[in-house]
Amino acid sequence: MVMSIVILLCALFASTVLSHDHEGHIFHNHDHHRLLSQEPHGCGFQAPDKATIERLAIAQEERVARIEQERAITSQALFRCNPARSDTQVVHIDTYIHAIEMTNGTGFLSDAVLEQSVESANKHLLSTGFQLNLISMNRVTSDIWYISKWNSEEQKAMESQYKEGGPNILNIYYKAAILGSERYCGYANLAEDAISAGTQDGIVMDSNCATADAVLAHEVGHWMNLLHTFDGGCSPGDLVDDTNAQASYYTGSGYDCPDPLPDTCPDQPGRDPLDNIMDYAPSECVDRFTRGQARRMQEAWRNIRDA
Ligand SMILES: [Zn+2]
Repeated sequence: MVMSIVILLCALFASTVLSHDHEGHIFHNHDHHRLLSQEPHGCGFQAPDKATIERLAIAQEERVARIEQERAITSQALFRCNPARSDTQVVHIDTYIHAIEMTNGTGFLSDAVLEQSVESANKHLLSTGFQLNLISMNRVTSDIWYISKWNSEEQKAMESQYKEGGPNILNIYYKAAILGSERYCGYANLAEDAISAGTQDGIVMDSNCATADAVLAHEVGHWMNLLHTFDGGCSPGDLVDDTNAQASYYTGSGYDCPDPLPDTCPDQPGRDPLDNIMDYAPSECVDRFTRGQARRMQEAWRNIRDA
């Protein structure tokens, strides 16, 4: 149930279905070929419901209170100062890339493209206090794993075989990012669910989106516990104080940022934060995380991923 809540997606809006028989073999049907020939042209999302988001907020408050109390007791017991880590200190997250390609070369990404995807993410993440520290790039050739769906036995087997480290280590799988009947730019689980996700904790990036600016940074945002700016609607919202309330994502077309910005929660201050990496917006709008988002990521790092 938990994982169904937290899967966070950027859709390519592919409309075809991959099908497997009971042995996990792929039917080489037209749906399969149509799906793999889809080019990215947008984003989609399965939002947690408002009740779930409210539970996330309560869970975070309880976690922070409990951990602060534990640390206070620990520092008193040891008769020493136990200083909080500085929010301005850059945290380097050890990162492993697993690049899956098909036997016919579909999905191949050069070392330069993979490195560039990390550099691009780091450019966007700099303001949050996090940087990805690329440890290795592992190359795998497998037709079945390349097109495996989220939560399928095939994808679980792949992740079990290659996942490195625990909750404080980032594993990124470049492949076709498929969930249900759709192909997405990527998906990730929240930090909140790192433990329950187990070997599935990580990011799946579609190889067709490897060069798309901010997509990996967006997925890292989820992995570090950020919701979309429009999740939770006008209330309770995305659990971040300094992102303007937003009822729904922008559905306009084109690359230009709309002027004026839409205002989907007119009873609350500010217009929709289309300039936020955790929103879906024309590429000209997307360029930043807020301080509040950085604080939420830092809380998740301290108290969950690196606890
Ligand atoms: Zn997303």
